[in-house]
Amino acid sequence: MAENLLLGAHFSISGGLHRAIDEARFYGCNVLQMFTKNATTWRERILSETDIHKFNEARLSGGIQRIAAHASYLINIAGPQGKTSALSCKALTQELVRCDQLGIDYLVLHPGSHMGQGEASGIISCARNINRIFYETRGSTTRLLLETTAGQGSSIGCAFEQLAAILKKVEDHSRIGICMDTCHIFAAGYDISTRSGYDHVMHAFDGIIGLERLYLLHVNDSKKEAGSRVDRHEHIGKGFIGLEAFKWIINDRRFRHIPKIIETPKGKTGFKDWDKINLKRLRSFTQQVKK
Ligand code: FE
Ligand code: FE
Ligand code: ZN
Repeated sequence: MAENLLLGAHFSISGGLHRAIDEARFYGCNVLQMFTKNATTWRERILSETDIHKFNEARLSGGIQRIAAHASYLINIAGPQGKTSALSCKALTQELVRCDQLGIDYLVLHPGSHMGQGEASGIISCARNINRIFYETRGSTTRLLLETTAGQGSSIGCAFEQLAAILKKVEDHSRIGICMDTCHIFAAGYDISTRSGYDHVMHAFDGIIGLERLYLLHVNDSKKEAGSRVDRHEHIGKGFIGLEAFKWIINDRRFRHIPKIIETPKGKTGFKDWDKINLKRLRSFTQQVKK
């Protein structure tokens, strides 16, 4: 067996938050990602004592080393001041509160879209809102992770420099970090499909952001070409990134302690269990290089 590969997937919370942990265990995962509410609505979810108890109980059954939550897709803290921004800050605060109540380690957030106010203003809005939300949730032990983005529309976070600029403006570095999504960086133009490209991109990330700021990896192949700026996840090895890059990631000593989460299509058709297939494929890479 490989030395403690931290591997998991995004699992559903239908039937209760604790169900995501049960699912993770079913798939033999030691890490997982989940939502703490319906991610496509603004409606908030207030956790009950029972929710929290069941979640803790599931986690106590053992085997789970790290849990990440993904924030609602509606949240945009990089836009101009106004109704959406205010709603987003409120929602992000609630996301952090729930994560803290559940003892969740990381909360993944898309940095947001500047919505025409310009990249520089978007970066300032994002950092300023984070600082305010951190103050409102002071004492929280959940680390907020800004996710690299594909660069669709006016979204920020597709260039490492933008993420570095946000981090620089965030006051409390003990509460922030980065989540790197392989599909997103590839779509944004960071071509990791060749060995030299992979080395170059990781070196650039280290130089611009710093690998010590990386806490989570989203391991997804891409349905679209490098630089397409289109965010479409594909099964491991079936997209334009290709199998080799995932072998490098799984065996990269620098990422040994970083949880790796697949967000590949679930594929409910036929008898194929795609999570099982993708996880097995990634696990097999360690065994190829070990010994
Ligand atoms: Fe995401
Ligand atoms: Fe992702
Ligand atoms: Zn994506």
